[in-house]
Amino acid sequence: MSESKDFLRLKVEEDLKAGKYQNIVTRFPPEPNGFPHIGHAKSICINFGIARDYQGQCNLRMDDTNPTTEDTKYVEALKDAVTWLGFNWNGNVRYASDYFPKIYDYAVQLIQMGKAYVDSLNEEEIREYRGSVTEAGRRSVYANRSIEENLALFKGMKEGKFKDGEHVLRAKIDMSAANMKMRDPLLYRIRHSHHFRTGDTWCIYPMYDFAHCLSDYIEGVTHSICTLEFENNRDIYDWVLDALELTPPRPYQHEFARLGINYTVMSKRKLLELVNGNYVNGWDDPRLPTIAGYKRRGYTPESIINFCEQIGIAKANSMVDVAQLEFCIRDDLNQKVPRVMCVLDPLKVTIENYEGEEEIDASYYPHDVPKVGSRKLPFSREIYIERDDFMENPIEGYHRFTPTQPVRLKHAYILTCKEVIKDANGAIVELKATYHPDSKSGADTSGIKTKSAIHWVSAKHAKQIEVRLYERLYKIDAPENVEDLNPDSLHVNTHAFIEPAVISEKVDVRFQFERQGYFYADPMDYTDEHPVFNKIVGLKDSWAK
Ligand code: ATP
Ligand code: MG
Ligand code: MG
Repeated sequence: MSESKDFLRLKVEEDLKAGKYQNIVTRFPPEPNGFPHIGHAKSICINFGIARDYQGQCNLRMDDTNPTTEDTKYVEALKDAVTWLGFNWNGNVRYASDYFPKIYDYAVQLIQMGKAYVDSLNEEEIREYRGSVTEAGRRSVYANRSIEENLALFKGMKEGKFKDGEHVLRAKIDMSAANMKMRDPLLYRIRHSHHFRTGDTWCIYPMYDFAHCLSDYIEGVTHSICTLEFENNRDIYDWVLDALELTPPRPYQHEFARLGINYTVMSKRKLLELVNGNYVNGWDDPRLPTIAGYKRRGYTPESIINFCEQIGIAKANSMVDVAQLEFCIRDDLNQKVPRVMCVLDPLKVTIENYEGEEEIDASYYPHDVPKVGSRKLPFSREIYIERDDFMENPIEGYHRFTPTQPVRLKHAYILTCKEVIKDANGAIVELKATYHPDSKSGADTSGIKTKSAIHWVSAKHAKQIEVRLYERLYKIDAPENVEDLNPDSLHVNTHAFIEPAVISEKVDVRFQFERQGYFYADPMDYTDEHPVFNKIVGLKDSWAK
C-alpha cells in the first residue's frame, strides 16, 4: 500500500472504525460491451486493492443490463484482464442479469409503496416534460394512475404485452429537483431484444440507476466505487435504497477521477470503432490502450499496477502523460530482462584481418541488475552493424564509427575502417575494416581510444527476424476521432538480424535490444522459423518527473 492513504481508504477505515460494516466488500462492475482498457485497470486496482488491504472481498460483476451491446467474448476479456493483473474475484463471476427477478420484485414493491408509476409519454415528451436547469419540470398525467393500475401495467410490460417505448416505469421523486437526474428517473424500459445470458426471458430491462444500487445491495457491497461522471447519480442511488426501506447495512457510492492518457482514446465506444473499422488489428493490437493490447505488446502486469499506484486516486479529472506509463514499464524491465544484440538496419562490415570464428562469453545482464547468466556470442569475419552507427562524413560531435574514428564492438574488439564500398547510386553497401586483436573487451591492451561502443551481430550466425515498431496511435495529444490517427503508428521491419542465443536459448520472452529498446516475443505470431518481436518501449525517458 502506498504511504499516504487516498481518500477512499481513509473512508473505508473510518467506516470500519465506526462499526458501520464488519467486512469490506467492493466490486468491479464492467459492462461487457468491449475489451477493458487501462482506465478499467485503474478501477480494478482500486477495488481489488482496497479489498486486499482491508481483508475484504471484491466481486467481479458484469453490469449486463443492456441486451443489445453485450457479449460473452467481452466477459472473457474482462476475466482475463483481472487475472492477468494478479487479482482474484470472490467466488463466481456475478451478473446483474442474475438479479433480474429480484430487481423486478423491488420495482413491484416501489409501486405498492406509491413510489413508482408507469408512464406512457413517449421519449420526446419525457424529455420535454423534464424541464431544464433553469426551469422546473412538469409531471406526466400518467403519474396519477392508481397503484392497482400501475401494478397491472407493469406486469403487462413484463409479459410482453407492449411494444418498445410504449411505457416506462419511473420513480416518483420530484419534477423540480435541482438535480435533473432526480426528476422522476426511469427505472425500467421495454426492450424486445435477445440478451446474451437471459435469452428472451425478459423484455423489460432495469436502467443503470435502478439495477446498480440494488445489485450492490444484493451482494452486500459496502463501498460502491465509481468514476466522477456518476456524481449526479448518487442521489438516485441513495433514494432507491432508502425508499425501499431495506435492512441495513447498505452500500454507499464514492466517486474518483477517471483516468485519461494523452495521445490515445479511452472509451469502449471509440475503441470499438477502431477495431470494427479495421484501423487497428483487433482488440489486442499493441497500439491500443486495452489490457489485451498492453499484454500483447509486452507490458508486465507489475508495470501497469505501479502506474496505477503512482498516479494515485484523485477527486478531479486530469490527463496523465503517456510518458509516465512508459517510464513504469522501462523501470520494471530494466531490473529484469537480458540484454542482447539485434541490428535493425544492417550494414555489412568485412573484417579483413580476421580468420575463422570464435565464441565470446557475454553476460546477459549489466552489473547493476541483480541477475546472472551469460550466452555465447559468435564472432566472425563478416558482421552487421547498424547503418546509422557509421558516418562517412561525420557531423560534429558524432562519436561512433567513421573512416578516421575507430569504434568498439560491444563485448568484442575495436574496429578501424579501411574502405567504404558504394553502389552505383553512391549508397554505402559495405565497409571493409580491420580489428585489433589486443583490444578484446575485458582484456584490452591496445591503448586505442574509442568514443563509443556499438552493437553488432555475426552475419553468418545471426537470425533474420521480424520486428514490429510502434509509434503513438494518434498524432495529437487529445484525439477526438479517426482523422486524428497517426498514419505511421506501425512499422514492420522484416530484415532485422539478431544474435542466435535469443532464439535458441529462450532465457526470457522480454529482452532489451542494446541501444534500441525493450522487445517482446509476440505471443501470437512468433515461431522459431519466423520469430516476431514487438517493441514495448524505447530506452529514452521523456517523462519529466
Ligand atoms: P467506457 O466509457 O470506456 O465504456 P465505462 O465507464 O462505460 O467505460 P464500464 O464497463 O461501465 O465502462 O466500467 C467498469 C468500471 O470501470 C466502472 O466502475 C468505471 O467507473 C471504471 N472505469 C471505466 N473507465 C475508467 C477510466 N478511464 N478510469 C477509471 N475508471 C474507469
Ligand atoms: Mg458503464
Ligand atoms: Mg461507457
